[in-house]
Amino acid sequence: MPQKLLEQEGLTSKEAQKRLLEYGENTLSAKKKSGPLKIFLGQFRDLMVIILLISTVLSVMMGEITEAITIIAIVLLNAVLGFVQEYRTEKTLEALKEMAAPAAQVVRDGEVVSVPASQMVVGDVFLLKAGDRVPADALILSSTNLYADESLLSGESEPVEKHPAKTLETDFGPGKLEAVYMGTVITKGRGKAIAAATGMESEMGKIAGMLDDIEEDPTPLQLKLDQLGKIVAIGCVGICAAVSVAGILRGENLFDMIITGISLAVAAVPEGLPAIVTISLALAVRRILKRNALVRKLHAVETLGCANVICSDKTGTLTENKMTVREVVTPDRRLTVAGENYADSAFFEDGKKFEAVSHQGLMSLLEIAAFCNNATASREKGGFGLKERWQTTGEPTEAAIQVLAAKAGVIPQELRWFREREIPFDSDRKMMTVVGGMGSRHRVFTKGAPDILLGRCTRYQDERGVHPLNEGVRSRILKENNRMAETALRVLGFAYRDASSIQGNLEEDLIFVGLAGMIDPPRPEAKAAVEKCRRAKIRPVMITGDHILTACAIAKDLGILREGDLTLTGKELDEMSDEALDRVVAKVSVFSRVNPGHKLRIVRALKKRGDIVAMTGDGVNDAPAIKEANIGVAMGGGTDVTKEASSIILLDNNFATLVAAIEEGRVIYQNIRKFIRYLLSCNIGEVVTMFVGMLMGMPVVLTPIQILLVNLVTDGLPAMALGMDPAQDDVMELSPRSSEESIFSGGLLGTIVFRGMLIGLTTLSMFVAFYRLYGGVEAARTGALMTLIVAQLFHVFECKSETHSLFGVPFFNNKKLIGAVMVSGGIAFLASENTWMRAIFQTIPLTLNQWLLVLGASLIAPILSALLLKLGREKPLENPVPMKTVRIPRSDSFGG
Ligand code: ATP
Repeated sequence: MPQKLLEQEGLTSKEAQKRLLEYGENTLSAKKKSGPLKIFLGQFRDLMVIILLISTVLSVMMGEITEAITIIAIVLLNAVLGFVQEYRTEKTLEALKEMAAPAAQVVRDGEVVSVPASQMVVGDVFLLKAGDRVPADALILSSTNLYADESLLSGESEPVEKHPAKTLETDFGPGKLEAVYMGTVITKGRGKAIAAATGMESEMGKIAGMLDDIEEDPTPLQLKLDQLGKIVAIGCVGICAAVSVAGILRGENLFDMIITGISLAVAAVPEGLPAIVTISLALAVRRILKRNALVRKLHAVETLGCANVICSDKTGTLTENKMTVREVVTPDRRLTVAGENYADSAFFEDGKKFEAVSHQGLMSLLEIAAFCNNATASREKGGFGLKERWQTTGEPTEAAIQVLAAKAGVIPQELRWFREREIPFDSDRKMMTVVGGMGSRHRVFTKGAPDILLGRCTRYQDERGVHPLNEGVRSRILKENNRMAETALRVLGFAYRDASSIQGNLEEDLIFVGLAGMIDPPRPEAKAAVEKCRRAKIRPVMITGDHILTACAIAKDLGILREGDLTLTGKELDEMSDEALDRVVAKVSVFSRVNPGHKLRIVRALKKRGDIVAMTGDGVNDAPAIKEANIGVAMGGGTDVTKEASSIILLDNNFATLVAAIEEGRVIYQNIRKFIRYLLSCNIGEVVTMFVGMLMGMPVVLTPIQILLVNLVTDGLPAMALGMDPAQDDVMELSPRSSEESIFSGGLLGTIVFRGMLIGLTTLSMFVAFYRLYGGVEAARTGALMTLIVAQLFHVFECKSETHSLFGVPFFNNKKLIGAVMVSGGIAFLASENTWMRAIFQTIPLTLNQWLLVLGASLIAPILSALLLKLGREKPLENPVPMKTVRIPRSDSFGG
């Protein structure tokens, strides 16, 4: 196939499918996934469970068959519960990985389609642009200023310029200038390439490196809990051993005592804590995804809740990124641009139609707008009562000016110039140039940020012709620029010049022709999101490449810029030392005309203060700042490199989504505290019951099967459901927690121990009461068993809030919890009321009065807590550690 045709058509989907089957996916050997069986068997990894199972086998040998079967059934049931949760977690994480996998822009059947990079095959023609991670080894078909960073393969840190291959027969091999390689990064420009090697055949495959994946390392919280789990486990095992030894010394049956000790250890050791945290984090990831943000790193969910500064881009994140040109200003005219329906007469001056063709300078401006542009615009016919609409492709700023030109009838295809060269736009230069050729003539067409572009102009053109650009005209133009920017318009300047060659320093000695001001309305939900941040003591900061006045107008409108805040421009930042920036950074709420390099300085300055910073970005140059931020936030439409550096991706590019993710981060942390509180206090309750009972010389309070029953009905479903508790209303009314805060901060540990002891002592007193009132160990055990279970089922509701007592919590807002408690309560009820179950659990049937006694006793602890809370003796736990605050010396205001 001739090269031109190949570039346009690419492979057919049928051929691509065939090659995919034949040669396999374009992936580097994937890590082995854990299958369902492995996950299920993993549930029995725990040492305590293994010992329990061995002792059960021993008890079968000694003839205790019913007991053994029950123990095994309970252990199995627990394993099934654990398996279901873990399997779901695994699936969630897998699905996320797939979503985060890179995509490639591939030409198939003559159309550019987005295909997962793993589905690419040899022969696929694909597009490359700055910020892309190259999906396969490929020969270059065409390129514009294309540079690739190949340090991954060559160790060379300077990006290499790439050129089209002269023929497709070029030998392929490492280090070629006509080729790009899988895993390397396009740093500048764009191009088209044809895949020559994929998967393990690629250069990258040969050295078998792995690309960044979703990170699954344990999060800091998981690590901490792992440690805590170990300490508690050692303590518990010690106590359980003591219980057994005390029993044996007192003359109880040796074997029974060993099984009692082990059962208690199984019930009391919070071995599942880190697992539950992982599951909760994964569930939170799913909830955050529903709100349109993709979490790439699990630990981000934890950090989200600590964020106290959000640095956000303006365009597209705080605004809609839907640009429409409203005003055009030439050195001698101020024109407004009509809306959609005025296509025949686009311009108005003082309310009167203005004919563009009559104005040389304006026609030059429109020509630059149409030609120095990579977007397209066409008019979509209305009909059926629908209005005519502009159909555009490409970057919104460019699309807006392409529409502007088209409204005045200037169409790129009809221009006499053909494109000879492009110097692409980048946010460091804030300009873009296209060189046009006509016969032997060359013309430079440039557009860009007016304040920067004007510095490159020496002449200007108006209705009457070209004149030298004196200071008077220059300052008049800048005034016009400021006037438009103050009304939140984003302004672009236009200039051109004829040139003798297409090389050299083209963007100088230009002829300025005018300005175009476009609106980009703030996102409707952004204002409310900013307000939410304020209430949640999170400081929103705008960082934008746009003009200071445009930025300030929008920041004021959204509530980001307030009385007393400072603003800084990129230029001022350049002139400032790091120390000076450190002094003021906490007061600056708008950074304008910055380039990506500045973002890194800003993040560092904020982090030095102890701020936990979320930073958004989409361009390739934003990656370092995103990596440096505590929470790097990439945009759904951003470059691969930024996405890889980020810990969370906003699929809809929306600021409000980031705030929602932070809210979920806070909720999940609260929920983790909730179930840690619940699990630990219940476990302490169980240990206290057994240990104190033993110390006081009582008969063994609960049999192994009864202990395992308690563990099953309280630790399983209710704890899980608590992890899914909805947000407390005030979660965004609190200050962010400090990242160094312990999970037990604010007196949580004391509350846990206190409540655990209360549960244990209540259970013991019911054991004594039932023993005395109703005679017999079986009655006493049943009373104690039911009290222990019911007290824990009440306690689970108390754990919903750290500020309210059992009588003040919203009972019914977590249906799963209600369901879990009903199931658990039902099982407990049957364990005493059903003949069959009674035989297994060695219980007696309880009368109504006895049940009332159990219920009453179980309410003692919650009533006591409620009273203490009321008397202010037990401090509310919420928001325990105040945020670190740094005193900022007063300083002069910067910028506008
Ligand atoms: P943010 O960081 O908030 O997304 P931004 O998108 O407004 O900011 P840039 O895209 O870096 O920032 O644009 C900075 C300036 O460059 C704009 O104010 C505009 O004047 C100019 N500019 C933007 N797009 C183009 C373009 N395609 N061609 C030429 N100049 C442009």
